[in-house]
Amino acid sequence: MAATTPGLVCAHHHLYSALARGMPAPPRVPTNFEEILEQVWWRLDAALDLEMIRWSAMLGALEALESGTTAIVDHHESPNAIEGSLDTVASACAEVGVRVVAAYGITDRHGPDGARRGLAENERFIRAGGRGMVGIHAAFTCTDASLRDAAGLAEDLGVGVHVHVCEGPVDADAPRRLAGLTRDNWLLAHCVHLPTEHALRGTIVHNPESNLNNAVGYAGPARFANPVALGTDGIGGNVLEAFRLAYMLQRSVDVTCGPDAAWSWLRRGWDLVPEALNDDVTWSYDPMDPWHIAFTPGIRPLRITIDGAPVFADGRPTRVDGGEIRAKAREQAARLHARL
Ligand SMILES: [Zn+2]
Repeated sequence: MAATTPGLVCAHHHLYSALARGMPAPPRVPTNFEEILEQVWWRLDAALDLEMIRWSAMLGALEALESGTTAIVDHHESPNAIEGSLDTVASACAEVGVRVVAAYGITDRHGPDGARRGLAENERFIRAGGRGMVGIHAAFTCTDASLRDAAGLAEDLGVGVHVHVCEGPVDADAPRRLAGLTRDNWLLAHCVHLPTEHALRGTIVHNPESNLNNAVGYAGPARFANPVALGTDGIGGNVLEAFRLAYMLQRSVDVTCGPDAAWSWLRRGWDLVPEALNDDVTWSYDPMDPWHIAFTPGIRPLRITIDGAPVFADGRPTRVDGGEIRAKAREQAARLHARL
């Protein structure tokens, strides 16, 4: 006997970070969130080319599928390989059989031309029919003009904006910088340092593993009036594990809480990517009930269909060779790490 659910949704992912594992240690040990960005992620994203992006996305999509996640809301950055990057991410996901909502996170860190080209990539991808949002890295790395342009483009295209908000103290000014721009279809990733009372609209995406790993603090998402969803921020695609950790973290500050709030955050993914409701995941465990899942590590999918078509059976992807993807990803990771 096994239980079946719709496909799970990871509401904030960075498929480009799948090759980061095993990268050489940074020149200096980062001592805070800002230094982690400078020493790790901004060196890594600058070294990406389209071939690395492709295999990084293939590996990330494979790992998502292997954990029952059939839809990924991705936030991509590759400042030296901007044009075509969203197609590369989307086609890798399609090959594996996972849905993706793609966005290029624009930034002025590389000058106004970088932000302009990032915006153009979002526009080109979405106008060509791609399932996407307009991406912004974060308010603190963008000019007011870039924030306004991104919000305006999203409005024109009828999509939301996917942006990091108050992940660390360095972005504390985000509520003021984004004032008046946000809409209900925006995704606000992290919000760890966002005041409980604020005027930002959109779904807040809680990323418990990443927040712990970066020592930025606990977001306490239950305090917000906004809807809340769950993401991994690039640490794999397993949102069932993100749910378990979200529950434990909430419990660590409120021993009276049950798993219902964290479960509602997981379910919010289906409002963001309703297509995932057409997917079926048959699990290794029954019942798939929040109280059971919260205390059951290692639950895995046995079979998955997307729109009725099989993509995973007998613990394996059916459209791609998982072993080959891992081997290719290792080759590309070695190329990437040699550039750092
Ligand atoms: Zn992120």
